[in-house]
Amino acid sequence: MTPLTSLCVFCGSSPGYDPIYENAGKHLGRLLAENGIRLVFGAGGTGVMGAVSRGCLDAGGEVVGIIPQHLVDMEIATPGLTELIVVPDMHTRKRMMFERSDAFCALPGGFGTLDETFEILTWRQLNLHDKPIILCSINDYWQPFMDIAESMQEKGFIRPGHMNLFRLVSAVEDVLPAARDMIPMVTEEPTPNLF
Ligand code: AMP
Repeated sequence: MTPLTSLCVFCGSSPGYDPIYENAGKHLGRLLAENGIRLVFGAGGTGVMGAVSRGCLDAGGEVVGIIPQHLVDMEIATPGLTELIVVPDMHTRKRMMFERSDAFCALPGGFGTLDETFEILTWRQLNLHDKPIILCSINDYWQPFMDIAESMQEKGFIRPGHMNLFRLVSAVEDVLPAARDMIPMVTEEPTPNLF
């Protein structure tokens, strides 16, 4: 099996109204550090993004932040990142987050989180990659998404097998086991060029 060495976390630049979200982010960051798995994220130091990155750094982990130039002032990066990569635009950020990660996890977040998660999910649907995608449903956060996805499937817009393109877990402790479980056997085929 290919080893899991890095995890990209998509999550809110906001903290949410319940501290449970930031606590979950911090916990996931710590688990990554303890397991020697590099965190890849959008570099921002606020909200759940800040919590995951600080959780990982505080526990001695490695954190790579990737941020587009135009957001450098708006989304102040977490201080002390192992590597801060400033890229020209959002598309480069997404591509680099993809390339630098073995698997993806979505914690609670807003439009940005949805965009990043759905793009990686649709790339997988189009067979552009087979990297694990985990939705971590803290406080049942992703249940409304599951409801609409099941309705879309019932109406014939999502193929039944495509609900297996991702895994839903309810606790951060389940993220790494689920990602490892989804990691494909090594094949001779390189990942196709996405762009
Ligand atoms: P949010 O979930 O809206 O708080 O955003 C979380 C992260 O997603 C932030 O770092 C945003 O810069 C990023 N983001 C926002 N919009 C997009 C987008 N269209 N594509 C990729 N990332 C985005």
